[in-house]
Amino acid sequence: MVHYTCDMCGKQLLPDEDIRYVVKIEVYTACDAMEMDDDMDEEIEEMEEEGEDDGDACDACDAADPAEMLENGEYKTFRFDLCTKCHEKYLQDPLFLKLWNRTRFSEN
Ligand SMILES: [Zn+2]
Repeated sequence: MVHYTCDMCGKQLLPDEDIRYVVKIEVYTACDAMEMDDDMDEEIEEMEEEGEDDGDACDACDAADPAEMLENGEYKTFRFDLCTKCHEKYLQDPLFLKLWNRTRFSEN
């Protein structure tokens, strides 16, 4: 049997009793060009005819394939299991901004 614990408070989550929430976070370099897939080629050609700027996508994006990004550590995923309480807490402050602010305050 698989046992889960809440990644925030360490509470053990019982499959029969506790609702388990999963948080998935993806972090990667934003690069609009990467989101283009082959289906969009026609649309892009039309756009290029209008402007003089012929597809001057950022050069860094040419080299950016997912495998390479993975090696460079530019693509990261996180997955957390949360109990009901922590899920609620997490949704109120997903980036822990309040926590950061509090830490800064105590340092001053
Ligand atoms: Zn918890």
